[in-house]
Amino acid sequence: MPCTCYEDQHTEWCWEHPLKAKARQDARDAASVWLDNWRDNMMAACGEKAANTILVWQHYKAPEVFETWDLASQDDMDWIAAIPPGIDYVAWADYGGGFGCCDVEEVELPNGWRLRYGYHS
Ligand SMILES: [Zn+2]
Repeated sequence: MPCTCYEDQHTEWCWEHPLKAKARQDARDAASVWLDNWRDNMMAACGEKAANTILVWQHYKAPEVFETWDLASQDDMDWIAAIPPGIDYVAWADYGGGFGCCDVEEVELPNGWRLRYGYHS
């Protein structure tokens, strides 16, 4: 959803402010690198099928690189899932279930992985 700032004059609180947009892009790039490295290591150890592995963490136990740099509310977040390219639909990580009974946000990373965030309110 676009912001409501006056004529592209984003306030420092606006998430579309250029500095925040830059930080968000840097964070997405870092998350992409982390996931590519993780998958390369897993495939070296476990073979091709490791490319289809979905990762899931409790919010506060996720690696720092997956901190929610561009999502409004972290307090009510329960789960973070990282879904690799090629897996289109993950029913259990959808809205309304145990993963995110009240909300699910999704961020697509530059390398095609998708991060899903599950909220309990
Ligand atoms: Zn704005």
